[in-house]
Amino acid sequence: MQFTTDLMPDLVESIAKVIAENAEQIAILDQILGDGDHLTNLQRGIAAVRRDCADYPQLGWSQVWQQIGMTLLSTMGGASGSLLATLFISLSKATSEQTTLDRQSFAAAYMQAVAAVKKRGKSGAGEKTLLDVLIPVATLAQQNNPTEPLPVWLEKIKVGAINGMESTRDMVATKGRASYLQANSLGHIDAGAKTCQLIICVISEELQARCIA
Ligand code: ADP
Ligand code: MG
Repeated sequence: MQFTTDLMPDLVESIAKVIAENAEQIAILDQILGDGDHLTNLQRGIAAVRRDCADYPQLGWSQVWQQIGMTLLSTMGGASGSLLATLFISLSKATSEQTTLDRQSFAAAYMQAVAAVKKRGKSGAGEKTLLDVLIPVATLAQQNNPTEPLPVWLEKIKVGAINGMESTRDMVATKGRASYLQANSLGHIDAGAKTCQLIICVISEELQARCIA
């Protein structure tokens, strides 16, 4: 299956919906471990992307990701704003030569984009951040064999995102505002890990539904 940019308006709607449905939990998580603004930062970014996304089906992936990255950079704020903007701008760079996108080419581009986020955040796995979702998902996305049905690949990505999000509960934060709490950060899920998990899961579910339809 080739992924095409006409998927984008529906994906953005689904992302906005899942974040709204989980708003209370997300807000509380960043109140516990941070300064409580992650939900509003993210919702501001999503609202701005939503305003532009009707144009995305006319564009290629590289252009769409560049636009999303620049929109998030100029609207979101917070550490997560700059990190997610980096993810999308790097995805754009990694796909600048490509006219089509399938799971292999997406997985390769996404791996490069996650590497750029690590560099920007000066962080890696196990530091109780959104990278504890993005990194395992990048690894799982690359482990695909071409005969594996797309829904099976997507299911593994969903499980990886959920496990990554859950794993942050038992970590001591060493990056971001949560690191000020040191051992007191134990026992709580990281807000950025939660929102990245929700977004990855809802995108996977949308794509799974399209495979079955
Ligand atoms: P801020 O921390 O500036 O208030 P947000 O609340 O929007 O920004 O985002 C917080 C999230 O950003 C955290 O939950 C964490 O997942 C992520 N984060 C913060 N700093 C880093 C970092 N250095 N590397 C990776 N992720 C980070
Ligand atoms: Mg915050």
